[in-house]
Amino acid sequence: MNWSDLYWQRITPLHVILWPLSLFFIAIIALKQLLYRRNILRSVRLPIPVIIVDSITVGDSGKTSLIIWLINSLKLYGLHPGIISQGFSENYGPPLPVTTSSKLSEVGSKSLLLAYQSKGTCPIWIGYDRIKVAQALLAAHPECNVLICDDALLDFRLHRDVEIVVVDNSKHNFGNGLVLPAGPLRDSLSRLNKVDGIVMNEKSSKLVIDTKNHVRTFHMKPESECFVNLLDPDKRSTTAAFKDKPIHVITDFSHAQSFLEQVRYLKLNVKSHTYLDNFQFPKEQLQTQGDEIILMREEDAVKYLKSASEQFWVLHEEIAIDIGLREVILKKLREKFMDPKLLDILVCPLCKGPLVYKKSEQELICKADRLAYPIRDGIPVMLEEEARELPAEEEV
Ligand SMILES: [Zn+2]
Repeated sequence: MNWSDLYWQRITPLHVILWPLSLFFIAIIALKQLLYRRNILRSVRLPIPVIIVDSITVGDSGKTSLIIWLINSLKLYGLHPGIISQGFSENYGPPLPVTTSSKLSEVGSKSLLLAYQSKGTCPIWIGYDRIKVAQALLAAHPECNVLICDDALLDFRLHRDVEIVVVDNSKHNFGNGLVLPAGPLRDSLSRLNKVDGIVMNEKSSKLVIDTKNHVRTFHMKPESECFVNLLDPDKRSTTAAFKDKPIHVITDFSHAQSFLEQVRYLKLNVKSHTYLDNFQFPKEQLQTQGDEIILMREEDAVKYLKSASEQFWVLHEEIAIDIGLREVILKKLREKFMDPKLLDILVCPLCKGPLVYKKSEQELICKADRLAYPIRDGIPVMLEEEARELPAEEEV
């Protein structure tokens, strides 16, 4: 347990002194929410549906895993998601696209991890002003028809259609139960009653949080583990294949204990190298000999994308989430896609040209490519392989 965990878990005289500030903070959030609800302050509605994925406590809580799951689920239904995020906490910069070639110093490690794990299957943009970031993403990628926002639970300026909150069930829980700055909560727990879904990240958890009062709670669990090569993510290996190899585990101080426990549980022969948080090993210290391999957490490994060799591997966890969450999200999206105005702005994913909405056939037609994209169960399936080719004689 590091100092920040200790701070969030306890109530000391310092916490008591800070408590009035927490109450003030809650009052400000409630007031802002009320002003936006009464339309005294205007939130910005983007032309496409927005899904917020955030945590109610400080820290990540497993948002990245959930976002990757969400990208894959939405793409399976023929949707084209785009991701927006502030990127890192002190990012005051203009909108910026993120790919695995982006500079760590410009985009931060969390954005790089998202780019790495999503394998370039959807655009990711970061920046200080979420509205501008979303607009920049949509201008560059008009084929995107749903936005996932990695944070922004408390940024009421951005109108949202779905709110999903991830709760880390493994160690922090809700800490001392107080709101910032006296506790780790970013809003009062009653906020959980108003969101569309709560996802419990049950990473190696023995704790059980009472969620009886909170509707729509879904569970996210690690399903299986494997090794993924950092340079070539398509190269995968079972953990058993690494049992007899000398493995150098490199991890930062904050995550050393949990990561080493996880690796030792897999009965691997490891030598650990722990470094101070935010330190980066110089390239010359990362040389290996013979069949030695270097193993890292995915979150740390993305910092070494540019200096990695073939010997760099990450421990990847496949996760599983209750299927009900997908249904909750699709139900909300179906309601949005009932609006003909939204269907009118969708573009062809191939030529990025306009589409003609044929209500009776429930199809969106691209005249240029002579393709008819089906609207199935209320969701436009914007996939070339699912589209109907228009015969020469069919009028559009
Ligand atoms: Zn087209």
